[in-house]
Amino acid sequence: MPRFSARWMVAVVLILVVSGAFFFCEYLIYFPTIFKCSWPKISHARGGEDIDSRPTDTAVRAMVLSDTHLLGAVGGHWFDKLRREWQMERAFQTALWLLKPEIVFILGDIFDEGKWSSQKHWEDDVRRFHRMFRHSTDTELVVLVGNHDIGFHYEMDWFKLQRFEKVFNASSTRIVTKNGVNFLLVNSVALHGDGCPICQSVEKELIKLSRDLNCSLQNSQSGGGGTDSCEGSQLYPPTPPIMLQHYPLYRVSDAGCTGQDAAPPEERHLLFREKYDVLSKEASQRLLQWFKPRLILSGHTHSGCEVLHDNKYPEISVPSFSWRNRNNPSFILASVSPSSYALSKCFLPEESTVIGVYCSAGACLLLLFLAHCLWMKGLLQCLSLCLLGKHKSL
Ligand SMILES: [Zn+2]
Ligand SMILES: [Zn+2]
Repeated sequence: MPRFSARWMVAVVLILVVSGAFFFCEYLIYFPTIFKCSWPKISHARGGEDIDSRPTDTAVRAMVLSDTHLLGAVGGHWFDKLRREWQMERAFQTALWLLKPEIVFILGDIFDEGKWSSQKHWEDDVRRFHRMFRHSTDTELVVLVGNHDIGFHYEMDWFKLQRFEKVFNASSTRIVTKNGVNFLLVNSVALHGDGCPICQSVEKELIKLSRDLNCSLQNSQSGGGGTDSCEGSQLYPPTPPIMLQHYPLYRVSDAGCTGQDAAPPEERHLLFREKYDVLSKEASQRLLQWFKPRLILSGHTHSGCEVLHDNKYPEISVPSFSWRNRNNPSFILASVSPSSYALSKCFLPEESTVIGVYCSAGACLLLLFLAHCLWMKGLLQCLSLCLLGKHKSL
């Protein structure tokens, strides 16, 4: 009878340890970590000038993440895919539930193999994306194009670009306006500047958007009377845009980047290649001149960085949202009003913490098993001694 209850007790403790560790690591851990994050107050916005005195709740609450890299059918191992997608889904759904963003931007490289996936595999990737990043109608999800979605410039074609645009039902270069804030989305993969048909089309669209934005500013300054050159232009709220794109603007390297999610020290001094790691100098300057953005948010490097271009245009590199690319993924929380903004970064649970919890649970189980074996061995010895004693006494 005691042997039977001991076995049951061990079984119950074993189930509790295994299910507790699993429930904590796969579900619960996201809540306390993301609960610590909050929307930044716009009165603490950077720059010190043109501070908007309105409370944060009138600003747009924008969540920005990047480089989700949903693994494809060719290069992705099924367990890797299952694990990373579950982690991203839980992190995203928990963030939606706790932080309630009005708009979410994903800065490209949504899919790892969009650049070469067959139609069947593409549809499967898209289906999984929609399941992971499902959201209510209170939240708008805006997706930008990255080199892994349609290929680097030499791999990109109309078929891949249109396939991407069709899934997300929008052009890859456009302006999204929310509560008087202009978010400019740029297809940075098509800014190679070599006159390719897609590059020409994107540049034409950018020139039109630049003209529309400049005319909107002029129109508001002149009290409604725009110049002749602005005839027929589409009017937007008269405020410089927040520019979002996959490739960062040109910078020499990540040598000046600091912070816990900057590139590792051994990689920081590697020189960036124009049109591959970052946009070309020429394309970067053109974008700055055309739009004079008050903030640039970009992805692609998978690491965090803050850069100030020409001493007046701040750019934030948003790290990868996938644990496959980093131990400490994160996303940006941006409170944005028409005249100012404030940013904060929300870190997700570290992969090493999860591994640590599983290893501790494993060690507990091992100790429990050993203790059980020793206890059973002791019990058996005790029983045999008792029986032996009885035998001798007979
Ligand atoms: Zn990427
Ligand atoms: Zn990329």
